[in-house]
This record gives sequence, C-alpha cells and structure tokens, in this order.
Amino acid sequence: MTSEQGTVRATGRQVRPRTEGWSQKLDGEGRPALQFASPKRGKPPVHLADFTPEERVARVKELGFPGFRAKQLATHYFTHYTSDPVDMTDLPQAGREELVYGLMPNLLTEVRRLATDKGDTIKFLWRLHDGALVESVLMRYPGRITLCVSSQAGCGMNCPFCATGQAGLTRNMSAAEILEQVVRANRVIANGELGGKKKDDHSMERVSNIVFMGMGEPLANYNRVMHAVKTMVAPQPEGLGMSARGITVSTVGLVPAIRKLADEDIPVTFALSLHAPDDELRDELIPVNSRWKVDEALDAAREYFEKTKRRVSIEYALIKDMNDHPWRADLLAKKLNARGRGWVHVNPIPLNPTPGSVWTSSDVAVQNEFVRRLNDAGIPTTIRDTRGKDIDGACGQLVATEDDKAAAEAAPIV
Ligand code: SF4
Repeated sequence: MTSEQGTVRATGRQVRPRTEGWSQKLDGEGRPALQFASPKRGKPPVHLADFTPEERVARVKELGFPGFRAKQLATHYFTHYTSDPVDMTDLPQAGREELVYGLMPNLLTEVRRLATDKGDTIKFLWRLHDGALVESVLMRYPGRITLCVSSQAGCGMNCPFCATGQAGLTRNMSAAEILEQVVRANRVIANGELGGKKKDDHSMERVSNIVFMGMGEPLANYNRVMHAVKTMVAPQPEGLGMSARGITVSTVGLVPAIRKLADEDIPVTFALSLHAPDDELRDELIPVNSRWKVDEALDAAREYFEKTKRRVSIEYALIKDMNDHPWRADLLAKKLNARGRGWVHVNPIPLNPTPGSVWTSSDVAVQNEFVRRLNDAGIPTTIRDTRGKDIDGACGQLVATEDDKAAAEAAPIV
C-alpha cells in the first residue's frame, strides 16, 4: 500500500491504457506528442459570422452594397436561421444572390443524420469545404435543448480512450463553422424535425444550451472558439442572443488558456475533464498532463470560480479498474475540498461498455460507491446522462468512421 497525500490505496486490479498494447506517441524530446498548432490547410471561406458587426458593414460595402444590408443579412442568419436568398425578400432581387453568397458561403454539407427511436437525439455528420468531417449532436431534455458542438476537425490531444484523439488533428474550425452548427440545428428544430416535443408545448424552440464536447479541444482553438461564444451571447440580430450560463466550455486542462478564459468576463460554465486525480494515471490517460499536472489544472479551475463565481464542473469518465477505485474518489474529494467548499461539482460519466476491452464501463455498484464517497465528502456529484450513446454520439466517441467517409464521398457537393 502506498499513499498520496495520506489517501489509502487499497490493492485492486489496476488496468492502464497500455494494458491492451496502446503506446504513447512521443515527440522529438521524448514527451507525449501533442498537436497544439493547426496543420496548415486552405482556410475555410470567410462568412458573416466570422466578423464583428462593424466588419460586416465594411465587407458589405466592399462588395458594393450599402452598409445597412449587413444588419438585414445578420437578421436572416441569426434570427431566422436561413442563408437562402430565396427567403430574403426584403433584399432587392438585383444582386441578392451575389450579396448573400458573398457573405454567407456554404460551410457545412450534411452527410448523414442519425436519430434515436423517439427522435429526441440527432447526430449530424458534416463535411467542411475541404472534405474534413465533423459531428454535432442535438438533444432534447425536459425544459432545454442542448447541442454538443465540434470546435476542431479531429483533435491533437491524443487521449487514448477517445476515438477522435486517436485520429489526430486535421485543422481548427473557423468561428463561423462552429456557429453554423448551431444555426443549422435551430433550423432543424424550427422545421419540427427534432422529436420528443410534447403535444401541448407550443413554445418557440431553439437550442438553449451548448456544450463544447464534440470533436476537438476548444481551448486549443482559443480565439475562434471565443469569437463563436461572444457571437452566441450577443443579442439578436448581432448574434444568437443566448445566455452565457447555458454554454459549457470544456478542456482537458490547458492551464494558461483556462486563466485567459477566466479573464474574459463572460460567465460561461467551465468544465475540466479530469478523469484521474493522481498524476501517475493521468499522465497516461490525458497526455496533456505531461505539460500541466493535476494540481495545476485544479488550481486554475478554482481561480476560474473565484473570478467568475460560476461553479466549475469536473468531468470524470468512469472506466472499469482504470480510474474507478474508491481511493481515487477519496483523493479527488480531498483535492477539491483542499481548495475550498461550494465551488465545484463532479459529473462521473459511465464509459460506453466495450466488453472484453480495458475501455469498459465500471460496474454499477462501483459507480455508486464512487459517487457516494464524493457526496459524503461534501462534493455534489451526479452521474451524467450519456444520451446519444446508442448512436455513438457520447463524449469521446465522435469520430468519422470509414462508413461516414464513404457516405461523404457519395454525398453531393452543395
Ligand atoms: S477526449 Fe477531448 S481532448 Fe482528448 S483527444 Fe478526445 S476530443 Fe481531444
């Protein structure tokens, strides 16, 4: 038996990422390979949503139209969720297409849509202008509609349990490509294509909550993600008029970027994907831990709470015999309580079961014990709904498969 900060480690089976032969890719200096910079690829076409309102006016004038047309276009896009010139009858017929296509080029081509039986969860596969594939998942819950968005095509963080990470980083997404996922989802909702709505509910509906938990590490694409977030919360028609509190930005722990986010003065919900409270395991489970350790990430999370007064979420995928040991629940509680009370809650996420693999879900009794220990230590802890897992839309599962790629090749280019 050993101990970390006095926490007793009971003996028990300990599987590791390498148990099934996974090995860490290393960089030239022998450290885990991480891609922070986006590979150089052709830039996506610029779009109205990439610009500030002033820049939109300037761009419209550059195209030879009066500046006030910028607001009309933004109203169509951010309020009516349309980029189709046919819908824009308030614009003069002459030059309408030129103006609309000049400011609103097509960014996402829908390749595939998978829905659950009730239709209250839909996973979209999108093709970007250069053929890169990304996904988003739209979920109806009682009283809210959540969209899980991608912020990068692929991801450079190389987490061994994550299909996206194993495929590497293709490129950063533009702010407009991120926002277009929301606009397209709103259009789907407005068309009545998201199921699960109660018959007596006549409310106007749209996406109310955003989680940056699709493909990519949002804080590795900081400037574009922040432009997208600012546009989400800007009042309509400047932006989407959403509440910052309904937007969750998650990270595996890019500490300098967490500090920058805390200084933005936008009260988004911040989530740290921790997955292990000890560096020994987290170094393997979350390779970015080789740059910023557990304590540094938790210190930055606590600072986020102090600056924003927003309670922080700790995400913890429970993986059988890997990170679900009772002593790890105790160590996590101890590290969180050491930084104060009432500033954090923990969301354990049962991993999707992969029977026979080291990447499988914890037994229910083990999950419950993990949750009980944290709650008993005064840390509010609730198992997170893994909606979408029957369509491979749960966190860490968003990756374009070979089938998806074949579908993308077959789909018409719009
Ligand atoms: S878990 Fe998140 S950060 Fe890690 S590789 Fe997957 S998408 Fe990237």
